Amino acid sequence: MSDIHDQAPVSFDYQVVRSKRKSAAIQVNADAVLVRVPQWVSAQWVDKFVQSRRQWVLRHLDRQQIQQAAHGIEIVEGGLIPWRGRDYRLRWQSGGASAVVIAGDEVVVTLSRRIRRPAEQAVSALLQQWLIQQAEQLLGARLLELSRQTGLMPAAVSVRSFRRRWGSCDSGGRISLNWRLVMARPEAADYVLIHELCHLRHFDHSARFWRLVEHHCPDCRPLQDYFRQRGCWLQW
Ligand SMILES: [Zn+2]
Repeated sequence: MSDIHDQAPVSFDYQVVRSKRKSAAIQVNADAVLVRVPQWVSAQWVDKFVQSRRQWVLRHLDRQQIQQAAHGIEIVEGGLIPWRGRDYRLRWQSGGASAVVIAGDEVVVTLSRRIRRPAEQAVSALLQQWLIQQAEQLLGARLLELSRQTGLMPAAVSVRSFRRRWGSCDSGGRISLNWRLVMARPEAADYVLIHELCHLRHFDHSARFWRLVEHHCPDCRPLQDYFRQRGCWLQW
């Protein structure tokens, strides 16, 4: 169950999501502030809770806006599409068969004349499809290489579309990688691959885990910030 509150004094809208949870928490996304609370709390209590976190929420909204302006993906003619850490200018044209190619510093999308939906939607879908194909080829091969270098062997590898993370490793040793990693600088993507490979040995974020990551990726610290600054890619 959820309801919309329009709260003038806090100067941002938020959505209240009630559930069986025992404590309250606020989640700030690019397009919404979600306040998750237990079923039994009153509207006044929620109000007070949000007021008490006001500064924190505003800070996060600010950060998201700055991030969106610097790294947000905009499907417009001339918009910038990151690919392996470089920005390419987006251009589209109509033609016989749909295709995506990189030419010089442009990424050119050809839209089949048979496509009926709005160009922006079709371009976005074609670009994503193309990036996923690239991710399947590049990330899988790179993981294998890093696996050989580190001696850490996953049970399986897949490319997925996650909204809140860049990669994961489950207790069965299966590694999943977010296709959006192909938009990142290759050495930044490597950090995520190495991070997940290291979970094959340490299934936690203990000091031992981080020592192993540093051992295989000595310059990885700044790369964690690289992904924090590009959290907006996950919203595309
Ligand atoms: Zn981890």
